[in-house]
Amino acid sequence: MGLKTKKEYIESLRQLKPTAYMFGEKITSIVDNPRLRAGIEATAATYEVAEMKEFQDLAITTSPLINEPVNRFTLPPSSIDDLVARVKLNRKLGNWVGTCFQRCTGLDCLSTLSICTYDVDKKYGTHYYDNFIKFLKYMQKNDLTANACVTDVKGDRSLAPHEQPDKDMFLHVVERRDDGIVVRGAKAHQTGSLSSHEIIALPTRAMRKEDKDYAVAFAVPSDTPGLIHVVGRSSLDTREMDGCDLGNVRYSKYCPTLIFNDVFVPWDRVFLCGETEFAADMVVKFSSLHRQSHGGCKAGKIDCMIGTALVMMDYNGTNQAGHLKQKVIDMIHRAETLYGCCLASSYEGKKEASGTYFIDTVLANASKIHEGKEMAEAIRLMVDVCGGFVSDLPSDRDFENSEIGPLLKKYLKGSDKFSVDNRIKMYRLAEKLAMESADTISDIHGGGSPEAHRVTIFRESNVESKKKSAKRLAGVEN
Ligand code: SF4
Repeated sequence: MGLKTKKEYIESLRQLKPTAYMFGEKITSIVDNPRLRAGIEATAATYEVAEMKEFQDLAITTSPLINEPVNRFTLPPSSIDDLVARVKLNRKLGNWVGTCFQRCTGLDCLSTLSICTYDVDKKYGTHYYDNFIKFLKYMQKNDLTANACVTDVKGDRSLAPHEQPDKDMFLHVVERRDDGIVVRGAKAHQTGSLSSHEIIALPTRAMRKEDKDYAVAFAVPSDTPGLIHVVGRSSLDTREMDGCDLGNVRYSKYCPTLIFNDVFVPWDRVFLCGETEFAADMVVKFSSLHRQSHGGCKAGKIDCMIGTALVMMDYNGTNQAGHLKQKVIDMIHRAETLYGCCLASSYEGKKEASGTYFIDTVLANASKIHEGKEMAEAIRLMVDVCGGFVSDLPSDRDFENSEIGPLLKKYLKGSDKFSVDNRIKMYRLAEKLAMESADTISDIHGGGSPEAHRVTIFRESNVESKKKSAKRLAGVEN
């Protein structure tokens, strides 16, 4: 009980027995699989930094609920300072791991539920908030990681959940029992689901009255019977299986599809069941919070790319080239604009009825639109500064080969001041930062599609007040 060390976190995952598949085979030891282990290490960094002096102020806080120190990734924000600390911690962690550390979606779910379950109970006299608080205490006391199960596979996008020819295209309740519910469906892009102790499911979209069975939120352990994790392909994923050409020698990212094959959920783990009008509120709150989380972690990832570009300038002997320095400046301003917008969304946050604080959604969504475009530009600039060997670099195995290795090292030497081995490793890191599809696609689609960000911005902006001020200046009334 209490804060877990990195070692205790990894051991706790060893106790879980999830059903998981990868490359067509069932995986029995999740923790020892090199592909998954690299992702688990990234989440483990959130435990590791809680043990480090330079991170502790941000990583550890006190829960007003249990009155004990907790990892920030289990704390729904109870002040503006908490909202701000989320972004600052994510930036530092993004820089520390250079990829996704896969623990924010769980916190974004906890924060959403701590607002919405209270509101549902107030309207309907249900007991979801009590269920949630009991679950939250369990998460905090045991320092657990949760995964957010939000993105349904959705079938035909033009049809509502209940209109789908195959009713399982959205996760839904197939049976209501005295002791709980049984759910069926599938959720995609489940970042780090096998690095998580708990899976928290939320609705993926607004629901109509006829979609009652689809308006469901709950939590189950990641190894609950009937739950199947199928790990998705990602560019560079076999590098970890091969044990060479890793680029990032410590961390990686993986995202399974999760199939709920008639999964039982006890009533005390249910946080919404049939109250359709709250489905939209849950998904908007979750998505906006996750877009805020992104602004922190992705600014931290750009910091890594900036560092990579600058080191490569040293290794290549181009550190005096003014045009490359300008490109690095262009990367820095992109990171800072993203970070600034995210911080602003936190400082403009407000207290909700339950007492949990929530961000400014317009600013959070604006930062996500910025990220979707500008991460791609930051990657382009890093590749431009580093040079063409970000691709086509021979394998570590070629460099180790006694016949061609010395020749390759001779011809791949850059500045005499630095070792060729370091230059090769740094090129590999640039490749990983630029080409790891599991992470780079999330720059665009993480927390919802770019169109969803736009729709939210327009809906949440006070457009009437903008029209009013234009009319005042023009001297018109209607
Ligand atoms: Fe967290 Fe999402 Fe960033 Fe991954 S991509 S580190 S889950 S905010």
